[in-house]
Amino acid sequence: MSKGHVHVIGAGVVGLATAASLVQRGYDVTILDREGPAAGASQGNAAAIAWTDVAPMATPGLWKQAIKWLADPLGPLSVRPAYALKILPWMLRFLAASSPDRVARSTQALVELNGAALPAWEALWRVSGTHNQVRRDGCLELFDTAASLEDARGGWAEQRRHGIEVEELGAEQIRDLEPDLSDRVIGGALVPGWMQVDEPKHLCLSLADWLKTQGVTFATGEVARLLPSEAGCGLVLKDGSTIDAERLVIACGAWSKTLAGQLGDRIPLDTERGYNITVPEPGISVKRMIMLPGHGFVMSPLSTGLRVGGAVEFGGLNLPPNWKRVDAMIAKARRFYPGLKEEGGKRWMGYRPSIPDSLPVISPASRHERIFYAFGHAHHGLTQSAVTGELVADMIEGMRPVVDPVPYRADRF
Ligand SMILES: Cc1cc2nc3c(=O)[nH]c(=O)nc-3n(C[C@H](O)[C@H](O)[C@H](O)COP(=O)(O)OP(=O)(O)OC[C@H]3O[C@@H](n4cnc5c(N)ncnc54)[C@H](O)[C@@H]3O)c2cc1C
Repeated sequence: MSKGHVHVIGAGVVGLATAASLVQRGYDVTILDREGPAAGASQGNAAAIAWTDVAPMATPGLWKQAIKWLADPLGPLSVRPAYALKILPWMLRFLAASSPDRVARSTQALVELNGAALPAWEALWRVSGTHNQVRRDGCLELFDTAASLEDARGGWAEQRRHGIEVEELGAEQIRDLEPDLSDRVIGGALVPGWMQVDEPKHLCLSLADWLKTQGVTFATGEVARLLPSEAGCGLVLKDGSTIDAERLVIACGAWSKTLAGQLGDRIPLDTERGYNITVPEPGISVKRMIMLPGHGFVMSPLSTGLRVGGAVEFGGLNLPPNWKRVDAMIAKARRFYPGLKEEGGKRWMGYRPSIPDSLPVISPASRHERIFYAFGHAHHGLTQSAVTGELVADMIEGMRPVVDPVPYRADRF
């Protein structure tokens, strides 16, 4: 017998994983998206199941790096002038989140969430038959200056403190693993536990297909207004039609802020725009994910080609993309892989849903017990989606959640 009906708004990886948890526990589920599965950030990300990343973005040391990066408009971090004033309150919160005690709190919350992230995904891959779309090749973090390598050692020590394996390697060992690399790299580390999926969009579409076989209904429509009540929530769509939801999950990624605002929750959610290019025949061999933290981009070998991308651009949800950022990334990538080709490459920009303390909002709405939030996963939404689904389902069922949910609450701001 059904435990009741849940509407999920947003068919990105977070909405899909939430639907998966709910349907397996006996709920009827409808997913509503204005476009369809994987229309947002979930379609073009770097494909990493980066559960070994436990450092928040805001750290005391980041500022030194950020000032250098901001000086270059095509560098790894930029603010579009038209958005500079709008992002200021978010930046101030980000600055506040970089104090040592706040960093320690966010790190602990990430350790707990990411620690449960992989087991949650493994269960979902198994049950949905998508386990053959995932690999554990590890990830190489590479550096080309002694100072950046030295800085990275502090982060690796922190990861090891949390039981994460990090193996520091010299330049020759690295080139043995990745023979097409130039001699620019002076050192780095292998993180063997890091995993990646073959193609994030394919994974989402496979999950959607499997969810349909489990009875989940997919509907198309853009939610414009929420009308909460004791019985649940009325949804008013852009075309004027309405839906009555008994229980509701808002999983709209970077677009969740307005809907949460209508429920009285002022969440400091903004977007870190990221860019990439996926080249079907890159002309080089990259055997596993390569991270170049000093340059703010990664190289990710996918079933559809080599994806080169990353960077953070503060520019909100409406400004057009600046494709020069992709040209700049390709030029930098060629310093490390001189043979890299870009012919036939597909360019993409996506909207990371980001909160200054680097923690998502996984929480009941502060004033409405039948409405739940699952958004704000920033750089780690693919990684954290399955555990988010489990947490939301625990909350809806009134069960003790799989991890302590307090750090992710909507009323923490
Ligand atoms: C360049 C880049 C690289 C990344 N790399 C990684 C990585 O390697 N590993 C990782 O873990 N994470 C990565 N991320 C982050 C990850 O992609 C996101 O955190 C994640 O995809 C967010 O998923 P989501 O379901 O919350 O949002 P989205 O995928 O953006 O989905 C939101 C959905 O909501 C729908 N929607 C919005 N508003 C409405 C509305 N009003 N009504 C109806 N529907 C609506 C949209 O159409 C969309 O389908 C990366 C992101 C970027 C940009």
